[in-house]
Amino acid sequence: MGKYLDTHYQSIHEPEVFWAEEAKRIHWETPFSQVLDYSSPPFAKWFVGGKTSICYNALDRHLIERANQTALIAVSVETNTEQTYTYQELYTEVNRMAAILKSYGVSKGDRVLIYMPMVAQACFAMLAVLRLGAIHSVVFGGFASHSLAARIEDAQPKMIITAEAGMRGGKVVPYKPLLDEAIELSAYKPEHVLMVSRGLCAFETTPNRDIDYASERNKHLDSLVPCVWLDATDPSYILYTSGTTGKPKGVQRDTGGYAVALATSMDYIFCAKPGQTMFCTSDIGWVVGHGYIIYGPLIHGMATIMFEGTPLKPDAGIWWSLVEKYKVSTMFSSPTAIRVLKKQDPQFIAQRDLSSLEAFFLAGEPLDEPTAQWISSAIQKPIIDNYWQTETGWPILALQRGIEVMPNKFGSPGVPVFGYNMKLLDDVSGKELPAHAKGLLAIEGPLPPGCMQTVWGDDKRFVSTYWQGFEGRLVYSTFDWGIKDDDGYFFILGRTDDVINTAGHRLGTREIEESISSHNNVAEVAVVGIADELKGQVAIAFAIPKNNENIANLEKELMRIVDQQLGPVARPSRIYIVEALPKTRSGKIVRRALQAIAEHRDPGDISTMEDKNVLIQIQNVISQ
Ligand code: ATP
Ligand code: MG
Repeated sequence: MGKYLDTHYQSIHEPEVFWAEEAKRIHWETPFSQVLDYSSPPFAKWFVGGKTSICYNALDRHLIERANQTALIAVSVETNTEQTYTYQELYTEVNRMAAILKSYGVSKGDRVLIYMPMVAQACFAMLAVLRLGAIHSVVFGGFASHSLAARIEDAQPKMIITAEAGMRGGKVVPYKPLLDEAIELSAYKPEHVLMVSRGLCAFETTPNRDIDYASERNKHLDSLVPCVWLDATDPSYILYTSGTTGKPKGVQRDTGGYAVALATSMDYIFCAKPGQTMFCTSDIGWVVGHGYIIYGPLIHGMATIMFEGTPLKPDAGIWWSLVEKYKVSTMFSSPTAIRVLKKQDPQFIAQRDLSSLEAFFLAGEPLDEPTAQWISSAIQKPIIDNYWQTETGWPILALQRGIEVMPNKFGSPGVPVFGYNMKLLDDVSGKELPAHAKGLLAIEGPLPPGCMQTVWGDDKRFVSTYWQGFEGRLVYSTFDWGIKDDDGYFFILGRTDDVINTAGHRLGTREIEESISSHNNVAEVAVVGIADELKGQVAIAFAIPKNNENIANLEKELMRIVDQQLGPVARPSRIYIVEALPKTRSGKIVRRALQAIAEHRDPGDISTMEDKNVLIQIQNVISQ
């Protein structure tokens, strides 16, 4: 482990030397004068004085060497289309899009919200926004109007870019009516909505506000828009977490640090080479999609695949046929997707030529051993579990095969990534724990380049949410429990807060509870996540009605409310109508007991519980 240990040691003890070297991977229009300014912890400023552009690094810089190389492959198995763009063509489209935005007044520092399915125009939009020095906020297309409205109000975008619909499993999923409703709900109104019409369904247009992308594009076919050079510390984007606290946190990311961190990760973690093809099956609405569908591979001079569809359509061989066809070298997906594929005939994989594939990366949730073993033996390639968060923007724990090839341990996402000073702490005293002791997984500041700078518009919330003071020093909390072994490999043991991970979508239990409580006949509600073989976890809810008349359809009505406010991904699989909830003497709902009963486990220590009969009642309701 010598090479890895030396590299990691240097990144922590001489961060300025380490990162100054890695920063050479990108183009700097003006060189930085200071690598790190940590004079006001926990706010870390990387590459101070430097000016750069993520869009320039992802596109313009490659035109000399790889203008005719493929940059973007947009595949939709829903609309049966496949379109390939070279770097030159992508550059042209991004310039057209940037010219449209510019003509409607979008400039440096403005926010632009992108609410789009996985189509090439979404990639153009993200790059065009950064080309202008504006800040994007991509909102996952599965979110319904209520969630969307909260994000519109918080980011106050000058413009929103959308399409009339997405498609999933052969069904058209309209976006435009949800967006119209969200704008209606929001106290803040955007000036314009740029509509990419895919011809999937009819939609209403609001005069003077809505603009048509196709006709605007025709006006700017030959437009070239120069990149706006930003300070390395200027924001590039905002991305909201799923929001366990009710109000989602807008993670604000910088420009220079993010570009350097992604470029470095492409080499040391993903072992990818310019000219190769990356296939990341995430969605642009998630942090993995930002970093490893769009920016990472393009900054690195690779071709990247954007995929609209499910891994089972037209059949379970679709991903592997794309690997064969486009000679994918680097694949990145989630454990949930693999659990879906695991149920299919392995022939779908066996009949494809996967010789181009070098490694398969998985992140987002715990990778259980059977799933890891299955994919490992099915594709016979290294399986690299990696652990990170929306907040960090790139991996925290991973094997770094570009530095040194180290043995894989199933169940562990590996060792701390360069730049991350990882600690396992006693959550009360902040004392560092030895190997084999379960502790709070924390990062000693400063966070490395590319991590969140602050909560958008709320520095106080950034400090109070994430940073804990222990003996005079500030430590970033991941809100995950972890443990490490004698070799320094970490294992993630679950979350310290309550988030449900259902089929790769992260849902705050708090958000679902708030939605259910908005029904006028709900007195109290608790939502917990329970294990589900297919989706990882599903939400279930326990609601106490205010009065017991007219409750025959209550479960259905509550599900409808969740559908409307948060979207069907957030709908609990069951909402049990109960008389009481298990509570501690201090009045806190004992969610772990609800979860245990619903999973048919022993509720464990219930000595602090107010009324033990409540659990028996709930057990009866569940088994009815
Ligand atoms: P919120 O912060 O709003 O509650 P979230 O934490 O669900 O949302 P993300 O930032 O997407 O949203 O998820 C990061 C979390 O996912 C990690 O903190 C961890 O709990 C889990 N996670 C990610 N990758 C892995 C992994 N490889 N193994 C185990 N857990 C993982
Ligand atoms: Mg989180």
